[in-house]
Amino acid sequence: MKISVGAASDVGRVREGNEDAFIVNEPLFAVADGMGGHVAGDVASALAVQVITEGTADRELSPEMLEGLLARANEAIWTQAHSNDQLAGMGTTCTVLLIDGSKAHLAHVGDSRAYLLRAGRLSQLTDDHTLVARMVKEGRIRPEDADRHPQRNVITRALGVDESVPVDHVELDLQDGDRILLCSDGLTSMIGSTQIESILDSTDDPQEAADRLVAAANEAGGEDNITVLVVDVGAPGDRSRAAGASPSARTDTAPDSPTDQGAEHHRSWRRPLLKTLLVLVVVGVLGVVAARVALANSWFVGVNNEGLVTIYKGIPEDIAGLELKQEEVVTELALEDVPAFRHDQLTDGYKTGSLEEAQQYVANLERLSESFRQPEPARTPKRKGAG
Ligand code: CA
Repeated sequence: MKISVGAASDVGRVREGNEDAFIVNEPLFAVADGMGGHVAGDVASALAVQVITEGTADRELSPEMLEGLLARANEAIWTQAHSNDQLAGMGTTCTVLLIDGSKAHLAHVGDSRAYLLRAGRLSQLTDDHTLVARMVKEGRIRPEDADRHPQRNVITRALGVDESVPVDHVELDLQDGDRILLCSDGLTSMIGSTQIESILDSTDDPQEAADRLVAAANEAGGEDNITVLVVDVGAPGDRSRAAGASPSARTDTAPDSPTDQGAEHHRSWRRPLLKTLLVLVVVGVLGVVAARVALANSWFVGVNNEGLVTIYKGIPEDIAGLELKQEEVVTELALEDVPAFRHDQLTDGYKTGSLEEAQQYVANLERLSESFRQPEPARTPKRKGAG
């Protein structure tokens, strides 16, 4: 299929530098949105783009390559972040699109989105890996409150913050006239999907569409870097004639955090406890009572609905739909002030053997967050994202 592309990346109206990076290398496209404060965010997104570009140079591209490319980018950023104090905690989102014949393949980590415009209707192809998206999924907050939530810019997955990272895949059967948008959150945090849809649908030329989207985000405040790739599939003019069939996308969502980061010494008791709990729940109500008793001596550090680091009594996992935890100490430390490489650990729940151990962990976390704080005004590695 014939491909035409428009691309635009802009610093916006508030940030000093542009930490977004992108690739237009037909039929491969990518957007990366770096985080980690001053230099580090730049480095992370640039490294991702570099690794992917080098990994695809002079090679026949296939969808099977995508996961390996992101894994390699992850490793490169992780290694850099651990060999240079200035770069500690850096990371980047990355959303890659490969057009392979009549199929589009997406691989992504983070909150840089992919959308499809088909027959004038916009649909989001990717799930955001953000704290608020997870809260919506778990029914902890309403979808309509997500965009205004104070923690909306906290991402739960990024390249480079952990030794390995789960990657989501989306596969889509393309039709002539489809238009795919890849963008950083500097677009989606400034203008809504209705406005994006209307601009994409009313602008035939992909470059003009990309420029108009960036201009609209800037008019709305331009609080973050804005990067937009508009990829048209099929002959020009096909878009207006495209059939109204709804897209059939196959999504393969990787579970968050396959690694139980930093909790090595708890594994020995975690699994037997869980197994015990599961057996108890099967037994029924008596089992639940017993489970609650068993939990009296379980503690973990997590994040409450307000986004504050909190010590809980109990366990982070629900067992058979039952919540087995209660807030014990709510700290004043917000998740967004904690270095990004600790986010997964906290959103999953960091288990400890005692309240004292939990308090010790929180004290260390406060010191760590303090040392990552920059003198002014953006604090590292708070996401330099949507404000
Ligand atoms: Ca951003």
